[in-house]
Amino acid sequence: MLTNGGGFIIITRGLKLAKLTERTRCNGTWTEAQFRSFIKNQLRHATLKWAPIQVCMKEATTRRGWKMCACCQQEVPVSIIDQATGKRVKNIFCDHIDPIVPVSGWESWDSCIDRMFCELDNLQALCGKCHKEKSLEETQQRAEIRRSK
Ligand SMILES: [Zn+2]
Repeated sequence: MLTNGGGFIIITRGLKLAKLTERTRCNGTWTEAQFRSFIKNQLRHATLKWAPIQVCMKEATTRRGWKMCACCQQEVPVSIIDQATGKRVKNIFCDHIDPIVPVSGWESWDSCIDRMFCELDNLQALCGKCHKEKSLEETQQRAEIRRSK
């Protein structure tokens, strides 16, 4: 793939990008990216029934309505009132230490499912603040790797 000085990779990236933004799904109303995100959200919902995730969240419980964040080691309420919207929002998340979509980029649905339904050793409870920071860092790493490819 690297034989012609990386030109092929640029072409491949172009095709991948076109494919993700092309409205190929749901009777031409959804892009590939929207479709992927929709399926991922449905799968994510199914992880609520995945025992290792239930165990992870149970183990993080310190008392009713409170959990321990594995990162900042603070005991936090499971939900808080969002200052901007005034709505009650989730404040603790079951994080995949090795993320569902690797920082090196999307691999396949097989990989996504394997990573999503992982074992307890790859899971940790994170408070809203720590989870947001980790996700942001992963997003930045993905963007950096994409740029350097
Ligand atoms: Zn935290």
